[in-house]
Amino acid sequence: MPSYRTASAQETEALAADLAAGLRPGDVVLVEGDLGAGKTTFVRGACRALGVTALVTSPTFTIGQRYAAPVGVSHLDLYRVADLGDEDPELLADYLGPDRIAFVEWPQDEPLIQGFGRIARRVRIEHDGDDRRRVEISEVDGVAA
Ligand code: ADP
Ligand code: MG
Repeated sequence: MPSYRTASAQETEALAADLAAGLRPGDVVLVEGDLGAGKTTFVRGACRALGVTALVTSPTFTIGQRYAAPVGVSHLDLYRVADLGDEDPELLADYLGPDRIAFVEWPQDEPLIQGFGRIARRVRIEHDGDDRRRVEISEVDGVAA
């Protein structure tokens, strides 16, 4: 599994931009890691590279945000969702779909997510001292990382 080390938020954003270049509509990227690991930072870098100009912050009062870009981008954070399966499936339909690229922090219920999009990458970010992070990016379904 490809593993990278970054030494700043900017480096993590740049790594995410590289990943974003290989994404296509319908792709879902799962982003895992502890609080403060840098998941939102990673998503921000990927969103920028995909042409999102809006400020990319953690979704707070909703499960996600939708950003306008040449290919629409969604950013979900399921941290506060106790059980995704209990939610109205239409909720996910607002954010996931064949025409969008989506990033999901604190992913859960992958089979449900897969009903709306193709899980293309799995990203895991871990603290590695101070501003250093270890970022593992794995390909899913034979899609090149
Ligand atoms: P999460 O979404 O995983 O809770 P955030 O991206 O919101 O994490 O916050 C990560 C914090 O860590 C930010 O304040 C960011 O600037 C800081 N940071 C420091 N070094 C790094 C790094 N190498 N990669 C990502 N974020 C970093
Ligand atoms: Mg976050």
